[in-house]
Amino acid sequence: MKKDEKIYLSKVSDLGCIICYRLGYPGSFAEIHHIRGIGLGFGVRNSHYNVLPLCPEHHRGNTGYHGMGRKAFESKYEITEQELLDQVKEILNEKD
Ligand SMILES: [Zn+2]
Ligand SMILES: [Zn+2]
Repeated sequence: MKKDEKIYLSKVSDLGCIICYRLGYPGSFAEIHHIRGIGLGFGVRNSHYNVLPLCPEHHRGNTGYHGMGRKAFESKYEITEQELLDQVKEILNEKD
């Protein structure tokens, strides 16, 4: 991993969980979730940039991405993984 990728990943995890953020609780401790198979093709070549910050519950818990599976997760929170990725990038751009 290159240095700027590491910096990007730490910025993403510093944002806190993106689902908690959307639910009105910004800044919760977040793990990095890597998006697989999608997210390529809009100017992002490196998969280390296709990441979401998710707290342990929203990542691996019963209401989380891996606990529910992508489809159930996306319908529960009424947003796709891709749209979450876009939102993370928007928030990071606003911070810069
Ligand atoms: Zn969360
Ligand atoms: Zn994950």
